[in-house]
Amino acid sequence: MIVGRGRPVYEGVAIGRIYVHMKNQVLTDRKCSDIEKEMERFRTAKEKAAEELSALYEKTAAEIGEEQAAIIEVQSLFLDDLDYIEGIEAMIKSGSEAAFSVHEIGDAQASAFAALDDDYMKARATDIRDISDRLVRILTGADQGFRMDEPGIIVAEDLTPSETVSLDKDKILAFVTRQGSSNSHTAILARVMNIPSLVLTDIDIDQSLNGRTMIVDGFTGNYYIDPDEKTLTEMTAKKKSAGEYKAGLEKYRGIESVSRTGRKVKLFANIGSPSDLKYVIDGDAEGIGLLRSEFLYLGRNDFPSEDELFEAYKSVLEAMGGKKVVIRTLDIGADKKVDYFCLAPEENPALGYRGIRICLTEKDIFRTQLRAIYRASAFGTAAIMFPMIISVKEVQEIKEYCSFIEKELHDEGIATGPVELGIMIETPAAAMISDMLASEVDFFSVGTNDLTQYTLAIDRQNEKLDAFYDAHHPAIMRFLEMIASNAHSKGIWAGICGELAGDLSLTDEFLKMGYDELSVAPSRILELRKNVINSEV
Ligand code: PEP
Ligand code: MG
Repeated sequence: MIVGRGRPVYEGVAIGRIYVHMKNQVLTDRKCSDIEKEMERFRTAKEKAAEELSALYEKTAAEIGEEQAAIIEVQSLFLDDLDYIEGIEAMIKSGSEAAFSVHEIGDAQASAFAALDDDYMKARATDIRDISDRLVRILTGADQGFRMDEPGIIVAEDLTPSETVSLDKDKILAFVTRQGSSNSHTAILARVMNIPSLVLTDIDIDQSLNGRTMIVDGFTGNYYIDPDEKTLTEMTAKKKSAGEYKAGLEKYRGIESVSRTGRKVKLFANIGSPSDLKYVIDGDAEGIGLLRSEFLYLGRNDFPSEDELFEAYKSVLEAMGGKKVVIRTLDIGADKKVDYFCLAPEENPALGYRGIRICLTEKDIFRTQLRAIYRASAFGTAAIMFPMIISVKEVQEIKEYCSFIEKELHDEGIATGPVELGIMIETPAAAMISDMLASEVDFFSVGTNDLTQYTLAIDRQNEKLDAFYDAHHPAIMRFLEMIASNAHSKGIWAGICGELAGDLSLTDEFLKMGYDELSVAPSRILELRKNVINSEV
């Protein structure tokens, strides 16, 4: 039995088989020693790709329909496209390895397609990337992407937000990573998914771990690989009692969140995409206080279209049946990287080109998202929230742009519902001028994750600083008190959607400060409601 430790980011016990998640290979320009052999490898890879695509075509046509299958057909056409194939062959003949050549030519041609004006041609960029990825995978012998056949525990060096969104969430029993931090988005995702997770573990990762039995104790931070009988029995009992505790919280389902003295607070959920709705229903959320809409942009090769976004927002609004859904406009940047945004590397990404700064600079991206949200607003109770605000001027510009979008839709005969406009208070600047900002918007929601990062000057992603990252710091508490009071003096509501909202040791404080809403991981809601209902505040 191997016993190790990590830092727990969500409690619970998981027992299952290990799936090792390896990073995508980074390709470098290694020279090949035998050019003719490399050309032959490329030709064989092409044949294999064609076979794979033809099988995929049959499957898609049978299971989904001819129209969807046609997309696969377009990809196979690239295997005969002279520009593409001859470009790759020329690179191999100049001495580069086949996989690197495919990657380089694929990337260059995809960028060229993406830059074209015609929407149909633009969309071909994704096809070239997909076919290139397939060829690289065949050439490098990498497996068919990461796939889980049955539920299991994911062990990885680290997981980026875009890697986590591509995983099959129904099959994940726990995350165990060597890197990561308690405040990273992967940790946040584990909380949404209600699964025990450890970061900063001492685990030695290699493929030999695949399929072995592992126990993850999210209460203590311990893990066990190939557990002995005694450990397995003890941990099975611990898992059972954790399940019983959860079952005991069921009596708090479906009731109002009111303290003993009659203070009411709404308990909302934080989610990343429509696929998280099941956790919202399971968790008994009274609404959605933070839909991190950037997750709809991660794990793909090109921008989602207005219609795709509209369908996603509409499905969430409809599923919530009139309960409020606060959609945060995209907060790309910092640790949430997306290749097709083509963002230049930055020295300090957390202080850089991110969130609302991108939206206000690249209005096309903003427009597509706002149009989709306003269109979806006709199907439920939508609110829009803007991240990383620092000034009144920004808010005024945003409001003006929102009115323009609404009018544009009305002129096109498209209906919209009433939409509240609010902002995240997650920079010290916004907190300090929250009295001024409160006159401009319908609500505030405090992003304590970033507010703590920027107030304490501590990078939330840097695991070495976890011990210094003190979200209970008096500076944060003072800010929280001030923000709620400034909101209420201007007659608007205030909530908290950062991780601190779910900190059960602070529920009384938040009630005293008068917060109207706490938005937390869906799995936290019943426990938080128990706390509110038993509070004497
Ligand atoms: C926050 O900063 O507290 C927040 C809720 O936003 P995110 O964690 O997505 O940055
Ligand atoms: Mg934030």
